[in-house]
Amino acid sequence: MLPFSRVAIIGLGLIGSSLTRAVREHMPTVRLTGHDADPAVRARAVEIGLVDDVTDQAATAVTDADLVILCVPVGAMAEVAAAIAPELSNGAVVSDVGSVKASVIEAVQPLLPAGTHFIPAHPVAGTEHSGPDAGFSTLFHNRWCILTPPEGADQTAVARVTDFWTKIGANVEIMDARHHDLVLAVTSHLPHLIAYTIVGTASDLEDVTQSEVIKYSAGGFRDFTRIAASDPTMWRDVFLANREAVLEILQRFTEDLTALQRAIRWGDGDALYTLFSRTREIRRSIIEEGQDDARPDFGRTHE
Ligand code: NAP
Repeated sequence: MLPFSRVAIIGLGLIGSSLTRAVREHMPTVRLTGHDADPAVRARAVEIGLVDDVTDQAATAVTDADLVILCVPVGAMAEVAAAIAPELSNGAVVSDVGSVKASVIEAVQPLLPAGTHFIPAHPVAGTEHSGPDAGFSTLFHNRWCILTPPEGADQTAVARVTDFWTKIGANVEIMDARHHDLVLAVTSHLPHLIAYTIVGTASDLEDVTQSEVIKYSAGGFRDFTRIAASDPTMWRDVFLANREAVLEILQRFTEDLTALQRAIRWGDGDALYTLFSRTREIRRSIIEEGQDDARPDFGRTHE
């Protein structure tokens, strides 16, 4: 299979810059071009040598590229696709890293010219930081990258994108876009929404002071603040783009929360104990599958 030799990355933030670093490390002969809408990010990308060529226009970055990866917020995907479309070469593979898939496919695919192949992807890896300095080459190691090729997608292009992610250390899975959006609504979008709510509620309380919330945060609150510190633009776009799946999962969550509320009200300790035992098992499975740090308290030191 023909490996990619000229890769263009549009959006040089956390994910885009992690990708360029990983490509440099694992595919040193690949020629890398990049663009970001933010001039300060472009200047920084030049300074730290993220790519071989940083361009002022997205379209210039993709000329001659055989793989183009859109690493911009979900809400900006269509705008970027429209900008690069006239410059894409025949046979080019276009991919993305957006956290929501069905709406990105709907928005991007019609804009791409015939003779190009759109193979959407979502690396399930990230941190709460943003920008070109936040990226690192090992971000995708042993993490899942989910490809959601549209119906009738070119199988060679799917195999080439699979090979690309495998080379930078990820495990690749292929999934239907709508199913992806439902799965991620449970494993990622709902947890973020809960974290944003808890942190928001705590900061709005009137009879517990802000300084008390911060002082006693080791009781559990601080673990939610990591997630609630995630990029506001990215997450605004995720909820707007995955509206239906998130609302469906949120409905289930609200029902389960009401059941817990009832158990607490009626002193049903058995119900609470049964649930808390089941959830502990889920944590064990995540660690067994190498998807988190097995050390207690995420490996924090307690001196
Ligand atoms: P990020 O660090 O904020 O980087 C995104 C970059 O794209 C920013 O520099 C942004 O510039 C730039 N940008 C925005 N609109 C643009 C446009 N029209 N043309 C060119 N550049 C543009 O965000 P990220 O965390 O890397 O997220 C990028 C994508 O990865 C998102 O689609 C997100 O859903 C997905 N993703 C994120 C994670 C995660 O944990 N962070 C994980 C998996 C997938 P401005 O700052 O000026 O807007």
